[in-house]
Amino acid sequence: MIRINEHYAKLQASYLFSTIAKRVNEFQAERPDASVIKLGIGDVTHGLPTACIKAMHKAIDEMAVDASFRGYGPEQGYDFLRDAIARHDFSERGISIQPEEIFVSDGAKCDTANIQELFAQDLRVAVPDPVYPVYVDTNVMAGRTANCENGRYAGLVYLDSTEANDYVPAPPSEPVDLIYLCFPNNPTGATATHLQLQAWVDYAKEHNALILFDAAYEAFIRDDSLPHSIYEIDGADEVAIEFRSFSKTAGFTGTRCAYTIVPNACRAFDTAGKSQPLRPLWNRRHTTKFNGVSYPVQRAAEAVFSAEGQAQVTALNDGYLANAALIREKMSALGYALVGGENSPYIWIKTGQDSWDFFDRLLHDAAVVTTPGAGFGTCGEGHIRISAFNSHTKVVEALDRIAKVLG
Ligand code: PLP
Repeated sequence: MIRINEHYAKLQASYLFSTIAKRVNEFQAERPDASVIKLGIGDVTHGLPTACIKAMHKAIDEMAVDASFRGYGPEQGYDFLRDAIARHDFSERGISIQPEEIFVSDGAKCDTANIQELFAQDLRVAVPDPVYPVYVDTNVMAGRTANCENGRYAGLVYLDSTEANDYVPAPPSEPVDLIYLCFPNNPTGATATHLQLQAWVDYAKEHNALILFDAAYEAFIRDDSLPHSIYEIDGADEVAIEFRSFSKTAGFTGTRCAYTIVPNACRAFDTAGKSQPLRPLWNRRHTTKFNGVSYPVQRAAEAVFSAEGQAQVTALNDGYLANAALIREKMSALGYALVGGENSPYIWIKTGQDSWDFFDRLLHDAAVVTTPGAGFGTCGEGHIRISAFNSHTKVVEALDRIAKVLG
């Protein structure tokens, strides 16, 4: 008898963004005249940098000719891209990461989801609250939790990220084995300092734990004192895997390219307690189950690191950060406490009231879509996330409407 994976039944039925879409559709059906401005889902809105488009066109032309055609590529990514990443993102910042430690993929979402396949079933897993839902749901699917009660799965350790700790949780007092961290954070936009990350690295060493560090929003860091990578912290290469993505960095959400760093020194342990390197395991998984990112897309990603690409990407993200600054300014002026938006495209606003009610009020009275914090976890209650991913004109208009409703 073919049987289902019953762990799927534990998943919470309504996915946050489909619930939001349903409410927006109902509102649009009632008010077809309303022009809705979306500052909800974290998707970029501007076209790809021209350096990337030029590189992609050239690569497509190469694919048309037998002499330059490429079939299956290396699953881990072409050398030209792995070399460019190692140089630009790491060695130029004084971090030693070798190209062979970089695995190019089609998304940080898939990688943060798939990586847990390398680990034992009976791990103690720690996740931030609020959280990017993929970390939680994939562990539920894998059977590492019991049922969800009152918004929390029994069996997970939740790392509360609240106003009290400036939305940056410290290591827990209890031992955990696998730790998900994300900075700059989605949804809060909070960032972690060297000292805060050092505490996590020290904890991971002391407890023989592993950190999964999601740096998908690294390109939005403007404060030079903040670490862009966990490998800026001494000893992190032994205890951390890092995820990066071109999605938000360079507008690749529909183009698909990301990368995961599994350093040679990074280890986990077998049942006998013997240290085992993780890079060969991920290499095995990646080459067995993944066919590589397409050649034109990898050429487009490589172009992000050219001088032209860097200037365009910086301008692109500066534009989103200017939106974020305006959101911070206007919402603060309305009297709301908030975090994020300075080194992140997300602003996390303390509403002081039920987050779905607040969301509904902004939708119905201002025709502006935000994201209710409760959708990211119990600590998200009483907050909303506003995303800076939209045109400046629309952000200005949305904030004017919000000011009329809340002012
Ligand atoms: N990690 C975080 C924290 C995200 O917010 C997102 C997308 O919203 C991703 C990963 C997904 O990145 P990608 O588009 O590379 O799959």
